[in-house]
Order: sequence, then C-alpha cells, then structure tokens
Amino acid sequence: MGGSIQLGRIWGIPVRIHITFLALVAIIGVEGYLKGGGLAEAGLSMLLIVALFACVTLHELAHSLVARSYGVRVESITLLPLGGIAAMQEMPRQPHEEAVMAIAGPMASVLIATLLGAVIHFTGYTGPVTHYGQPWLTMLMGTNVAIAIFNLIPAFPMDGGRVLRAVLAHYIGLVRATGIAVSLGQGLAVCMALAGIFLFKMNLLLVLIAVFIFFGAGQEGQQVRAQAVLDHITAGQAMVTRFETLNRDAPLTIALGYATEGYQHDFPVVAGDTIVGLVTRQDLLSALHHLGPQHTVGEVMTTQICQVPPEATLTDVYRRIAVGGCGIVLVRYGDRIVGLVSPESIRDQMVAAASGRPRAS
Ligand code: ZN
Repeated sequence: MGGSIQLGRIWGIPVRIHITFLALVAIIGVEGYLKGGGLAEAGLSMLLIVALFACVTLHELAHSLVARSYGVRVESITLLPLGGIAAMQEMPRQPHEEAVMAIAGPMASVLIATLLGAVIHFTGYTGPVTHYGQPWLTMLMGTNVAIAIFNLIPAFPMDGGRVLRAVLAHYIGLVRATGIAVSLGQGLAVCMALAGIFLFKMNLLLVLIAVFIFFGAGQEGQQVRAQAVLDHITAGQAMVTRFETLNRDAPLTIALGYATEGYQHDFPVVAGDTIVGLVTRQDLLSALHHLGPQHTVGEVMTTQICQVPPEATLTDVYRRIAVGGCGIVLVRYGDRIVGLVSPESIRDQMVAAASGRPRAS
C-alpha cells in the first residue's frame, strides 16, 4: 500500500504503518494537550494509541499465523487509522479454513482484554488517568473488547462477515454467500451513516467507519466475483490464437518496434520451428535500456517456458504469472502451441465479466 512505512518484521511478516496513522497519533496528542492541559497528558494519550495499535497488530498477526498454517503467504500487515489490514496472497479456499482464520483475530483481542482484566483485577493497578477521563489500562482493555465485538458483527468486511460467509458458502456456494455478506455489510454501513448523521448529531467518526465498511464490503464482493471469473474461464477461452513470434536472432530494436507498434506486447521466441523462450515488452524495454541495441532477442529472453493445456482455468494461469514468474503462458494442445495468455488477456476477461458481457477471444 502506498504511503506506508515499514516498522520491522514479526515472524518474517513486514509490519507497516500508514502515514495517516501517524497523523492520528499527532491529532490525539494535540487533543490530549489541549484538553488535559500539559505535555504529560499529550504523551499519555499518544502512548495509549500506540499501545492500542500494538494490540491491533496482535489481532492481525493471529489472522496471519492461522492463514500461514494453511499455506497462505502473508505479504504484510499495515496499520491504518481505522484498524489493521493483513495482505494475503490469496484467501484460503476452503470455507472452514477461512472461518478459523477470521475468528482468530477477535479471539486474540478477547485474550488481550482478558489478560489486561486479570492484571487490573489482581494488582488493582489501572494506570494514570487519560484526558478521556478513564484510566489507561481500563481503556486499553475496553477498547480490545470493543474491537472484538465490532469485528464479530456478521457482515463484510468484518471478521464476523467472513465466518458467516463460510457457513453460508457450505450451503449455497461461495459467490451467493459472499453476495449476502456484502449486502449485510452495506446495509449496516448505511444504517451506521444515518445514525451518525441524525441520531448522534454528525458523529464524523461513525460516518467515516460507515464509508469504510461500505466500500470494504463492495471490494470483497468484487474480488470474489473476479475469482469466480478466473475459476470458470479456461485458458482455451481466454487465449489469443493469432500471435506473432520473434526470431531468436532478431536485434532488440526491431523486436521492440513490433512490441510497441502492434497490438501484441508479449512474444514467444522461436529458433526455426521450435519455441525456445518468451519475451515481454517490459523485458525488451529494460534490455534495450541496460544493454544497448546491439544485442539480440535470444540474449534477453527467458527460457522458462510456461505451458498449460486449454482446459486449465485462468486461476491456474494467473498463479503461474503471479507466483511462478511467467510473463506469458502458452496454451498447448497435443504437441501444438495453439495460443497464448498474457496478463492483459486475463485483465480483459475480468473487465468483460465486470461489465456483464461474456467475452471470447
Ligand atoms: Zn480481524
């Protein structure tokens, strides 16, 4: 995510804070200074926010560690003013796995609250009073309880929505289950916004959270629809069947001419009748920039040739491109290459599906 700073790694997962979060810490500090009247108050309030977000990090780590135990790679955890986001390469595909992953976060928050409650109960220590009029540890405990409850609301994009979706998916399938969780989330968001405006006399924080939920839910819905598209369209349907090839001995400048002028950006490289490598426009551009024009296509092509049968789904193809590092994927039928699928062809299919038109190319 743009505009975020990496703090470090926990169990190999990069933890980042978004710069807007730093702004939040500053605003809380100023508020504490003005309302409490002193630097000590300001420091205390800022420390509370930092401690709170350490708890949010633990919540996200709980999601992440469960996800990882199911073989999902967690790319990063980012702290935003309204909470944390754990970016995963893909969601667990088994509904029950997603449910366990989703429930792990609120459980972590409950556990933290319980530990803080135990400390308060057994030591009687609640820490200094903040400018909110509540003692430090009590507030930290209360907020962790609030985070757990808020996240258990059974609507997207909250964790509870994922659990609900997983349960529904068992009966009515992933796409319809997601649709219901998304509608619930967006309905809830509209109610929250209305309540924030009319009931609580312009409570901006509530309205902001409502907006966050509304768009967050919509995004989840889109992702699942996109995933469904990828699952149901085959490489044979999405492939480009008319394509040019480049000769291994062609100079870079001529190859780049092809790549920039024509409709095709990625090329199989041939020696005689055999495909010996692949080259993308990006490869050609950077090779020309770093090596100079006297080199040939054969010198810069990747020899890793990725192939799938026509019946492979776009999910398989996408995985080859995103994880396997293939620039383009060739479609092989028997001993013939019948087409190629590039990231662009996948994007075209997604766009077509989003606009409701099935597209064959
Ligand atoms: Zn969560």
